[in-house]
Amino acid sequence: MPSYVNPEKCDGCKALDKTACQYICPNDLMVLDKEKMKAFNRDVAMCWECYNCVKICPTQAIEIRGYADFVPMGAQVTPLRSTDSIMWTVKFRNGMLKRFKFPIRTTAEGSAVPDGGFETKGDINSPALFTEPASTGMAEVFTLNK
Ligand code: SF4
Ligand code: SF4
Repeated sequence: MPSYVNPEKCDGCKALDKTACQYICPNDLMVLDKEKMKAFNRDVAMCWECYNCVKICPTQAIEIRGYADFVPMGAQVTPLRSTDSIMWTVKFRNGMLKRFKFPIRTTAEGSAVPDGGFETKGDINSPALFTEPASTGMAEVFTLNK
């Protein structure tokens, strides 16, 4: 089941320039009906159920099926994120509810350093990754001679 917006819970992200689900969808699927101030998935066949919109929605308005590798078939899952944890509410087919809470980070929000503190060369034409060779602990990145 692709993502589905429950119109009773969606508040249109309170008319921000771009809603949270529009901002996060890697497939650019979420759109906002500005008259009703409700978001919807414009092409469900293109939704790969990545859960991004589900996890970012501040009102838990987006529903999606749970994958069979972590909940039984037919169960519905709803995440609730905080700054350091995520709580999943699972509704099983028989109506039973269970909640699971997991930590999601070990550092303060906003404190991640993009380059990990490694020296970077910033050479976009280099075959090396952004922080290489420093992050590999080697003096240089070896490449194949052509
Ligand atoms: S992120 Fe949630 S509340 Fe905001 S527009 Fe999308 S579905 Fe509605
Ligand atoms: S589940 Fe992923 S691909 Fe589908 S609408 Fe949400 S963010 Fe986009």
